[in-house]
Amino acid sequence: MLEQGPVRTCEVLVVGCGPVGAVLAARLGALGVEALVVDAATDVHPLPRAVAADDEVQHLLDLTAPGLLEGALHDVGVRLLSASRRELGAVRLPAGPSGHSGLALFSQPTLERRLRAHLATLEPVTVALGAELVSWHQDVEGVRARLGDGSRVRASWLVGCDGARSYVRRSAGIVMTGRELERPWLVVDVAGEVDRAHLSYTCDPARPQVDMPLPGGHRWEWLLQPGEAAPDPIPLLARDIDPSTVQVLRAATYRYGARQAATWRAGRVLLAGDAAHTMPPFAGHGLGAGIRDAWVLGGMLAAGDPSGYQALRSPHVRATTRQSLLLGAVVEARSPRLARSRDTLLHSAFRTPVLGRWLSRGGPRTSASGVVAR
Ligand SMILES: Cc1cc2nc3c(=O)[nH]c(=O)nc-3n(C[C@H](O)[C@H](O)[C@H](O)COP(=O)(O)OP(=O)(O)OC[C@H]3O[C@@H](n4cnc5c(N)ncnc54)[C@H](O)[C@@H]3O)c2cc1C
Repeated sequence: MLEQGPVRTCEVLVVGCGPVGAVLAARLGALGVEALVVDAATDVHPLPRAVAADDEVQHLLDLTAPGLLEGALHDVGVRLLSASRRELGAVRLPAGPSGHSGLALFSQPTLERRLRAHLATLEPVTVALGAELVSWHQDVEGVRARLGDGSRVRASWLVGCDGARSYVRRSAGIVMTGRELERPWLVVDVAGEVDRAHLSYTCDPARPQVDMPLPGGHRWEWLLQPGEAAPDPIPLLARDIDPSTVQVLRAATYRYGARQAATWRAGRVLLAGDAAHTMPPFAGHGLGAGIRDAWVLGGMLAAGDPSGYQALRSPHVRATTRQSLLLGAVVEARSPRLARSRDTLLHSAFRTPVLGRWLSRGGPRTSASGVVAR
């Protein structure tokens, strides 16, 4: 079956031109490594998913190509609110050592389009869209792959940046460990002027809610009961705004997981981004983790030795996953009694001198992953 069609050769075959595959290809191209990046789809994923980037992720994107996050909203304040919208605590994430803001809110499709435009300027990088990886095998010298159009690729390395359902991971026989969260979230993006300047976690035991401003619009997320059909978003929106003043771009239900691949490498095949790990988006770290993977793995592949990759990245992924799960658990409390105790605790913790200062700066600095220093 592998005998048909032309053969392309490259040093690294990147499977998936989502944000992680695109940053990896850009990093390889900047380091002079010949890379072919293939994607099954012909255009970027149209629905915005990731919206938040910490200072280190902004720094990495700036090093990849300045201007990738142009138009993002920077230094957005974060509030924890009770069901009655009383402020329990306020957080402002401090700027990082690079001078980038502690929190930027952006549009993922815009970022992906800009990354693809940047790839087109890098001579060692070739992008093939509408090109699905359908089979591959490896030996000690490299990897041979076949694409959906029948063409073949020979590469020294293959990196699966092909998302949470990664074909590369599954076909390498790598299992995911971890768990899926029980309750789904309804995510609604709107376009239009919305007079809500903060990222707010509304800890309402009847319907936990997260909402945040985005360039040109706003996002709301509501926790659903297990098995609950997605409710009409309009009455939910009406609790905060006049829905007739905005246009609903999409309403989608997600069930999040906190999972890591048992290994991120099988010989000459590696995994990065959602293919290697997924986490709930409550702290906005999922894509950031993948961008950090891409940055560090690109450098290692350019040097010809990715052996320290998982050991470097996995502890930070675990730390940010724990932070996301903790934040989710705080917001998701559904028992009114538990919610009352949580509210009292948070309200006083944020007003205790030393602890309060630490919490209002976002607690532990998870953006210092050590990736930039490398
Ligand atoms: C509602 C929601 C909110 C989120 N919010 C945040 C946030 O605020 N901050 C944050 O950091 N993260 C967030 N995330 C997570 C973030 O969106 C993901 O971590 C990120 O999109 C993963 O990027 P990726 O490149 O690894 O995978 P993907 O974006 O899934 O890209 C994978 C690519 O691989 C291609 N592909 C798949 N199979 C093949 C194949 N066989 N051959 C060729 N190509 C293939 C696909 O077409 C796709 O283009 C959020 C996620 C969701 C769902």
